[in-house]
Amino acid sequence: MQPVSQMHAQSAVAEAEAVYRYSVELPTWHTLSEMEQRVLQAVSADGGTADPYQIAKRVQGAPSSLKTAEDRLIDKACLSANDDGTVSLTGFIGAGTIRELAGRLGAYIEAAEAIRPRTVAFQKCNAYMPRVQAYCVLGRGHAGGHRSK
Ligand SMILES: [Zn+2]
Repeated sequence: MQPVSQMHAQSAVAEAEAVYRYSVELPTWHTLSEMEQRVLQAVSADGGTADPYQIAKRVQGAPSSLKTAEDRLIDKACLSANDDGTVSLTGFIGAGTIRELAGRLGAYIEAAEAIRPRTVAFQKCNAYMPRVQAYCVLGRGHAGGHRSK
């Protein structure tokens, strides 16, 4: 029998990883709700283990929604519960795959925030009007003349 070359061994590993990715990781990821995906991402971002405080800091949502997402992730073997109240990634969906998929989700979240009408603090025009010795109170970039009130 011929010895298995290192190159062949490496390509076999790569192939097994690809099979796992397409037969387990991706189908499982797509069964997760967005909240579950975000909780999983949060645990991954905290190095693979996180407590409720760390998760809540990264994922906005009602405490009950976060708890439900965590429970479902444990049911789906994506997270395991530890005795100290933290949860850990199981590796069922690998950290690398989570980062990659969550990164794309994050890109959509950022895009949605960029598209949404700005709700930033009102910025005044603030132009000085020497005649009335006052500053313009209209919004920056307003049409028409300045106004003091
Ligand atoms: Zn003005």
